[in-house]
Amino acid sequence: MSDNYDVIIIGGGPGGYVAAIRCAQLGLNTACIEKRINKQDEPALGGTCLNVGCIPSKALLDSSWKYHETESALADHGIKIKGADLDLETMLKRKDTIVKNLTGGIAQLFKANKVTWLQGTGQLKSGKQVEFQPLDGDTQTLQAEHVILAAGSVPVDIPVASVDQKVIVDSTGALDFDKVPKRLGVIGAGVIGLELGSVWGRLGSEVVVLEAVDDFLPAVDKQIAKDAQKQFTKQGLDIRLGARVTGSEVKKDQVVVNFTDKGGEQEETFDRLIVAVGRRPYTEGLLSQDAGVSLDERNYIYVDSQCRTDVPGVYAIGDLVRGPALAHKAIEEGVMVAEVIMGESTQVNYDAVPGVIYTHPEVAWVGKTEEEVKDSGDAYKTGAVPFAANGRAMAAGETGGMVKFVADEKTDRILGMHVVGPQASELIQQGVIAMEFGATVEDLQLMVFGHPSLSETVHEAALATDFKAIHVAQRRRKK
Ligand code: FAD
Ligand code: AMP
Repeated sequence: MSDNYDVIIIGGGPGGYVAAIRCAQLGLNTACIEKRINKQDEPALGGTCLNVGCIPSKALLDSSWKYHETESALADHGIKIKGADLDLETMLKRKDTIVKNLTGGIAQLFKANKVTWLQGTGQLKSGKQVEFQPLDGDTQTLQAEHVILAAGSVPVDIPVASVDQKVIVDSTGALDFDKVPKRLGVIGAGVIGLELGSVWGRLGSEVVVLEAVDDFLPAVDKQIAKDAQKQFTKQGLDIRLGARVTGSEVKKDQVVVNFTDKGGEQEETFDRLIVAVGRRPYTEGLLSQDAGVSLDERNYIYVDSQCRTDVPGVYAIGDLVRGPALAHKAIEEGVMVAEVIMGESTQVNYDAVPGVIYTHPEVAWVGKTEEEVKDSGDAYKTGAVPFAANGRAMAAGETGGMVKFVADEKTDRILGMHVVGPQASELIQQGVIAMEFGATVEDLQLMVFGHPSLSETVHEAALATDFKAIHVAQRRRKK
């Protein structure tokens, strides 16, 4: 094995493996160090996202939705099914097969692109040296022209609810309960808490979500968050805002959780508890004392807008650095850094990174919320149109939610698009494309949208910003 590489990447998640493939495409002699061992005790690429994040959670969200629909949402369509049986073992196995196929696919892509996968742990030292500890074998010192740190993130632990992966679990444990918990507690009403709470709620758990903050989804446009909260509550998710967990005790196969809310000290007993209070950058063991890379005030690796650390030739991407902890953001940073190394002119447009919550209905957004624009003091206009006015949504029985645009009053430029409703994760890409091209709402107003389609609500919302929506009655704001 060679000790010298053009590029060494530490971490083989969506940031790292994409960076590795792009570097190799560009002709660089590339190695990617990844230490992960999967559930089958095999070395695995793909990081959090493919192994214990985006993909397995979406597999369970899709399966659990099909079960819920079959059980209770098809009667309206005139389809009556009695006694649908849940085979949880098969559902979980299906998820594992999807993960295995995808992560195996990355290994194939590495081979095809001649990326060297070094199975083990990497640590950055000074002078762009990397200490590599193989899964078995002796430590080696490798030298690179460029190093990309892509070690990702891990769940935040809170001392008031220590994860044992049996009764109290983190997001990884919550992908593999061996039976549907009768009562399930979730700490944290963030993206992960809501998605995993939804999975088990659809499969029959009584779900209580405890959230310390008083606002629901504070980073999401208020009008959208309010609508989503209403729909989730109607579905049976018991979301308690302003409920801060202060302690917990596992008693036999249950957990007693203490929390405070407006009414004072409270207690709830659950069969399982998911701790979903956020993720933190995974820097343990990644940097030797003399590595020279600085961290920012929140312990993320400090980088500039093109992911350069303050050591020349060393870059950091993905969940290790500022910005949203999202796989697609990590991916685009991986591509950008490979191209920066080659001296190409490239960038990530951080103003147009979409966010999605894969609940039902889905919630998705890109750009600024109405509250952010209002706070900036700039003149703005909004247009919001409900799916209830859309023929395709009615046909599908998916009339909850809306599409909303926020646009600059003077320039007509789209500043943000927000969706709560069916296929929000797909619809939001229209806003991403529009914003990437610097579109105005008028650009969208003038486009022809296929009929009938959910996308027509995107069109109507763009029209609504100028009081031109056809299928909803609008009253012009007084100036
Ligand atoms: P990671 O995917 O965390 O990969 C880093 C890899 O580096 C890991 O495999 C780790 O083993 C390895 N590593 C760390 N240190 C070392 C070392 N010293 N030596 C060798 N290897 C090392 N994002 C979305 O965009 N959409 C979603 O739907 C979504 N759903 C999610 C659901 C869940 C339950 C979770 C937990 C996360 C979800 N995310 C989602 C977030 C997404 O998984 C992360 O943003 C993404 O994985 C970050 O990619 P990354 O490459 O920065 O790091
Ligand atoms: P996110 O970072 O989006 O995954 O969301 C995590 C959520 O967990 C945040 O909204 C936090 O307010 C919430 N949270 C953190 N600690 C606690 C706690 N002790 N009790 C209840 N909620 C918490």
